[in-house]
Amino acid sequence: MMRIARASLHEVTNVLVDPFRSSSHATRELQHILVRIEDEGGAIGWGEAPTMRDPFYIGETTETAWHILRDFLFPMVVGRPWETIEQLAALMAPVKGNTVARSGLEMAAWDLLGRSQGRSVADLLGGTRDEIHSGFALGIEPDSGRLFELIDRYLDQGYRRVKLKVAPGLDLDVLERVRARFPSVPLMVDANAAYSPSDTDHLRGFDQYDLMMIEEPLDADLFAHAELQRALRTPICLDESLRSAGDARGALRLGSCRVVSVKLARLGGLLEAVRTHDICRAQGIPIWCGGMHDFGIARAANLALASLPGFTIPGDVSGSDKYFEEDIVDPPITAHGGALAVPRSRPGLGHEPVLERIARRTVRIHEARA
Ligand code: MG
Repeated sequence: MMRIARASLHEVTNVLVDPFRSSSHATRELQHILVRIEDEGGAIGWGEAPTMRDPFYIGETTETAWHILRDFLFPMVVGRPWETIEQLAALMAPVKGNTVARSGLEMAAWDLLGRSQGRSVADLLGGTRDEIHSGFALGIEPDSGRLFELIDRYLDQGYRRVKLKVAPGLDLDVLERVRARFPSVPLMVDANAAYSPSDTDHLRGFDQYDLMMIEEPLDADLFAHAELQRALRTPICLDESLRSAGDARGALRLGSCRVVSVKLARLGGLLEAVRTHDICRAQGIPIWCGGMHDFGIARAANLALASLPGFTIPGDVSGSDKYFEEDIVDPPITAHGGALAVPRSRPGLGHEPVLERIARRTVRIHEARA
């Protein structure tokens, strides 16, 4: 039986090495919410809600997540008994939506559970791999010279797949230049819902560039994506559209996509991410693990998740050094030849939060007690 005796929220900042731009938002300084929980015996778990300042990606912001965690989720779980993550999720179930906020607290519970049992979260989830393969994702870079320089840099580091953000006006020309320079590199694009169904003919132009997939092409529903998928040779991958395992099941039933991006923060936590994995795996649908510019705690959770057998496409879980000069965990999360080690032999998430670094970057704290 577990019971959270103390819980706290820590808004923590970090700055991206390279400023990032997609069709939906631009960012440089990040503010994520760390969740620390402690049970009656003094065991500790850490989670991270990788929140954004603006509501342009999936609606939540750092401010809304702070509010939901402080005023609803903490009062629902602190002091209440639970034994499994399913039971903890049931305590949180009255809160609808707000998946990023929920994922931060749920992640802390997985970490606590793993540490209490001396098992890694990867092990608790059913992970089978000792290392995962990762590609890299680049924001919109209108300057081709700069874009080529970044692609060269990360290919030299051994990453095996290139993902580019695209937007109307910064799409086919960019792909033409990138394909001319890198004819055989595994390449995919992410539109972050920048197009509409009336752009179908234009999107057919993407087919000539031999893309692994086009991610989230439309600002439209699953039916519109199903129609577009029938018109394209390039597989569609859905990301923002899928906020639960049930959404993924519906999208596959409709034929809205042929690939699924699994992001635990978007889906509300690791439990729902594993359910999504299981649905896709049963249908032979390839999946990959997405990222949210995660700090080390959420990045470690992604490593655990991506160690499940259905993650057959290299994901976005690059080493921390691609994003930050200094991360908040030790050992650091690094990639070698595009591969990252899954910390299966260490309990919990397996990468220790460094309290001094967290304290130095903390903007505000909220504490709750049973
Ligand atoms: Mg995406």
